[in-house]
Amino acid sequence: MSNPIQAVRGMRDMHPEETPRWVRLEGIARRVLDAYGYREVRLPLLEKTELFRRSIGEVTDIVEKEMYTFEDRNGESLTLRPEGTAGCVRAGIQHGWFQQPGRRLWYLGPMFRHERPQQGRYRQFHQIGVEAYGMPGPDIDAELILLSARLWRELGVEDVRLELNTLGDPADRGAYRKRLVDYFEARHDALDEDSRRRLHGNPLRILDSKNPAMQGLIENAPRLGEHVGAECRAHFEALQETLRKAGVDFVVNPRLVRGLDYYNRTVFEWVTDRLGAQGTVCAGGRYDGLVEQLGGRATPAVGFAMGLERLLALLGDAWGGERSAADVYLVMVGEAAERAGPVLAERLRGAVPRLRLLVHCGGGSFKSQFKRADRSGARLALVLGEEEARTGRVSVKPLREAGGQSELEQSDLADYLAKTLYSGAAE
Ligand code: ATP
Ligand code: MG
Repeated sequence: MSNPIQAVRGMRDMHPEETPRWVRLEGIARRVLDAYGYREVRLPLLEKTELFRRSIGEVTDIVEKEMYTFEDRNGESLTLRPEGTAGCVRAGIQHGWFQQPGRRLWYLGPMFRHERPQQGRYRQFHQIGVEAYGMPGPDIDAELILLSARLWRELGVEDVRLELNTLGDPADRGAYRKRLVDYFEARHDALDEDSRRRLHGNPLRILDSKNPAMQGLIENAPRLGEHVGAECRAHFEALQETLRKAGVDFVVNPRLVRGLDYYNRTVFEWVTDRLGAQGTVCAGGRYDGLVEQLGGRATPAVGFAMGLERLLALLGDAWGGERSAADVYLVMVGEAAERAGPVLAERLRGAVPRLRLLVHCGGGSFKSQFKRADRSGARLALVLGEEEARTGRVSVKPLREAGGQSELEQSDLADYLAKTLYSGAAE
């Protein structure tokens, strides 16, 4: 045998035992998003590289070193999306979505970043992104945060705290930027390599450094808050007021700047201490300039994205429970039974809503088939032997509970299964 090919580093396979957790997470998120009137969009994984350069910003981790960029066969530079906002704005401009004010959109899917893989950090990971367009006020910022808080409640996420900050408007940042450059320049020797590179390109990004050696310097740096104009401050105050009234706890973190260039005013993160350095499970903010910057009509916007791998890690392995492959397993021994079984199974699937029925394939003794029935996690085995095939009956054997085998007419089976297995509320 030749060497088996391995997955690309940092790209995880989702095992069949894992996918029910994902489906459950997605289902709960979908329900919460529905409750607020957000509509799903599905967008391409590939975009023109230019889109990300122009939106995320040249001097950011993502654009500098994390993008999967390649030339396609026509020599066009394309990039696997590292995040979803840029594509959503691109699509909205292209299709006129933003002409209708109050657009509320969301999407779910894989994102790609060439980072150093570790717990909670992968090269293909999944986000749910939520975006709202055409609404300039703090009301919609608050709505997004309340939506995320409700999602944590519905999922049972604990130990997350909300951090908020305001980045002011671009005009406020000019003056601040100058002060910041002066501050860091005076301490040039203490800067790490990344920070030196950023000092003149994008000094605010230094504040987002994860390097422990830089934290003291960052802690003492001038605060952006002092430069924020009155209008922005009022916006930020109003947001905090709504959150307080709604009973959502938060802390204002004046050093929260976010890693993407397009943000202004409100930024926020939901952070946990339980996932080590990869503690941000959800992050977002306002990006009022981006639609215009990408060639659309000026449209205020705000959004967030949550990392689903981190959310699931926070929920723990037990969350979502185990889901069996089937509720019912059909065991068949003998030629007549093997011929009749699949036909019976098709009839049952047609007659019993929600039936999850696994039909044994590949023959074998009763003993070996029961072993597989047991391993499938099914609650009931249906048994068709020579005898049952001839008489039009079927034996039913509980696999998880005590109780012996009973016998039924095949024609009564659909009713029996519907009653015993599916008479409760829908899952
Ligand atoms: P970090 O500071 O952890 O690198 P980020 O600021 O780059 O995060 P965003 O671009 O804001 O992250 O993405 C939103 C969320 O997506 C993050 O809060 C995180 O939960 C998740 N995320 C980002 N990058 C990764 C990754 N490489 N692997 C898994 N999840 C990720
Ligand atoms: Mg990052």
